[in-house]
Amino acid sequence: MTYKLSATKLVTYKQCPQQYNFRYELGISSRSAFGSPDLGNALHQALAIAYRDWHYNDHKPEWDWFESCWGVSVSKLSEAQIDDGRAILRSYFNDFVVPLNVMQRPLGIESKISAKVQFENIEFALNGRYDRLDNTNGSLELIDYKTTKNTTVPDSVDVQLGLYYLALQQVYQQSLKRLTLIFLRSGESLSFEVTPAHQKQVRSLISDLAVKLRTDAEWKPKVGGHCDRCTYQKYCTAKTCEPEPVPKGELRGVQLSLSV
Ligand code: SF4
Repeated sequence: MTYKLSATKLVTYKQCPQQYNFRYELGISSRSAFGSPDLGNALHQALAIAYRDWHYNDHKPEWDWFESCWGVSVSKLSEAQIDDGRAILRSYFNDFVVPLNVMQRPLGIESKISAKVQFENIEFALNGRYDRLDNTNGSLELIDYKTTKNTTVPDSVDVQLGLYYLALQQVYQQSLKRLTLIFLRSGESLSFEVTPAHQKQVRSLISDLAVKLRTDAEWKPKVGGHCDRCTYQKYCTAKTCEPEPVPKGELRGVQLSLSV
């Protein structure tokens, strides 16, 4: 049996093994209160169409091409969101397309990537999804569009870098050089170079997780700032004096230990 792993799962494990156990091993659902993702989805869709369907016969498109891609991405939006999104896309166009001499065709757009690694005799399927993969001066560069209002770098960046490095190396036989986050609302971009330490960290996290899965070791709570956003506080002995009993979920860990 193959154990599916993603950057989100690995980040959760890094933050708190107990939270990981609640969510992914015991299958207890977590409900969080995020706003409507419609505007973000529409922006991602418009950018995917703009890069995927451009004919690349001319050096680069004009604004009207991006605007037409926006026009076919807005069916679920209100009038205010349509105006808001158009302005965000226009800023993106001004900041990231106008300065180019040539808009290059990306290697991949909104694609899934998967690869396999083995630790402790457990096969892990590394699954990820990226917004855009560029070949920048002969090196692989991942582009991740962010639609959040603030430009806080997500906790997941280090893990994302290491995981995609492992996966892309298998798929392209080429190393990932850089991950660039583009914050669409502010127009800021932040680039992170991949180092051997990122790959080492991810290997060590997966190996540690493998030991837990293999031995059914204790999934210890790890208290930190992330606890404020944790929806399992009511079951957590580290955060609650009288925690509620943990509900029985789908015990996926048992399936794994029986089949490997
Ligand atoms: S409240 Fe904090 S320590 Fe407890 S499970 Fe959630 S993240 Fe872990």
